[in-house]
Amino acid sequence: MLDAVVVGAGPNGLTAAVELARRGFSVAVFEAQGTVGGGARTEELTLPGFRHDPCSAAHPLAINSPAFRALPLERYGLEWLHAELPMAHPFPDGTAAVLARSVGETAASFGPRDAGAYRRLVEPFLPKWDTLARDFMSLPLTALPRDPVTLARFGLVGLPPSTLLMRRFRDEPARALFAGLVAHVMAPLGGFATGAIGLVFALAAHARGWPVARGGSQAISDALAALLRDLGGSVHTDYEVKRLDDLPPARAYVFDTSPTALARIAGFGDHYAGYRYGPGAFKIDYALDGPVPWTAKEARVAGTVQIGASRAEIGAALRAASREGRAPDKPFMITVQPSVVDPTRAPAGKHVFWAYGHVPHGWTGDLTDAIERQLERFAPGFRDRVLARATAGPPELAARNANYVGGDIASGAVSGLQLLLRPKLTLSPYHTPHPAVFICSSATPPGPGVHGMSGHNAAKAVWKRLRQT
Ligand SMILES: Cc1cc2nc3c(=O)[nH]c(=O)nc-3n(C[C@H](O)[C@H](O)[C@H](O)COP(=O)(O)OP(=O)(O)OC[C@H]3O[C@@H](n4cnc5c(N)ncnc54)[C@H](O)[C@@H]3O)c2cc1C
Repeated sequence: MLDAVVVGAGPNGLTAAVELARRGFSVAVFEAQGTVGGGARTEELTLPGFRHDPCSAAHPLAINSPAFRALPLERYGLEWLHAELPMAHPFPDGTAAVLARSVGETAASFGPRDAGAYRRLVEPFLPKWDTLARDFMSLPLTALPRDPVTLARFGLVGLPPSTLLMRRFRDEPARALFAGLVAHVMAPLGGFATGAIGLVFALAAHARGWPVARGGSQAISDALAALLRDLGGSVHTDYEVKRLDDLPPARAYVFDTSPTALARIAGFGDHYAGYRYGPGAFKIDYALDGPVPWTAKEARVAGTVQIGASRAEIGAALRAASREGRAPDKPFMITVQPSVVDPTRAPAGKHVFWAYGHVPHGWTGDLTDAIERQLERFAPGFRDRVLARATAGPPELAARNANYVGGDIASGAVSGLQLLLRPKLTLSPYHTPHPAVFICSSATPPGPGVHGMSGHNAAKAVWKRLRQT
């Protein structure tokens, strides 16, 4: 009998499997798709030689993840590549705010009236970032905080809505950039703890950057899977689990799935009925004839480019998708241009470009025109560079990965208490009604993103049980 079976080979499932195998437990992973990776994969979606990341592309959370940093992933082929700027936030007049590696350069891009406020916001936390990241990503208390005082201070600043935090800034560059950071997890700007989200992304940039993986995000998943195999674990693809009986006998079962799917597979009835899913995403992967013709020069050298002309425009786009049930006219977008630093992604002189905007849960329309009109405001002539595009709205995202219910790429609304306490209001989020069944997906803390910390935290709960039984 196996010690543990993991269902789903996303970053959290693979991390949970590696953590267990490292401790001498026998582990097998079962994945529905033909390849490992879940939300961290790479495919030639458009034309030959153009290697796209259909899901994650920029990795501030992965490079800063305490779980990944403790694993020898570089030995298994993972290499982080950094653009000159982690992120740029251009404006239609050709100027830009930037999130640079240095706090000083970032603050200077906000203008003289906000530079000091930004320094005062981030500088107290930066020297303690590694401990803070570990403590914050281990909430709710799967490990005792190493620095409870800094964590409490961070809570005081981050737990109120980001709209309050943004009052520290007087001008649009800082406000729009910060609103964009909060929007990375599709949270409404006025929501509980949204200040913390923006702060985490900013601190992550100053600490280690927002890199892309050489060759594509698949390199992260392939490194985890190769490490797992070296540790004696096995991975079975093309194996969709519909019932617990589909799995071999094991002492523990760990699900990198949505709570809804877990309830269906394990027969947990309405145990997770209160779990809410959030808005969806509309994703476009482009093959381009050249680089994106951004007006702002900062955007040309940034790995990630946020698109939203003002805090108000970003707020309106988020409200449209999350509360008003309609697609935004001017979508807020996160875009990533991996081939600015990674020549392996496209044929010489050509580029891949990655963009998504927010749409209502389960939306079936086509956001392509709104996305491209928005891009033309910041990069006139963009459309002329397009060689091919691959689009995916909520139905396509959900079909490719069962965890993205209704196109919700966070596998559950990141709002209200569910931002921190997911998938239920409990201090043991990785446990389920069955003592041998666990959940480790991004529907558990610390939530969405490629960081493996949900898998890492869940694995602790699993090995505690395995050592007791
Ligand atoms: C368009 C998009 C853009 C994103 N951009 C970023 C980004 O730039 N940076 C970032 O950090 N994060 C990003 N994310 C989020 C990130 O990809 C996810 O938060 C992360 O992958 C979650 O990891 P996970 O292991 O919890 O789940 P997933 O990665 O979703 O993996 C779950 C796996 O379980 C499998 N599975 C589900 N049900 C079953 C079943 N019944 N049987 C067998 N297998 C099953 C799925 O096929 C999948 O492989 C993005 C996501 C999307 C979709």
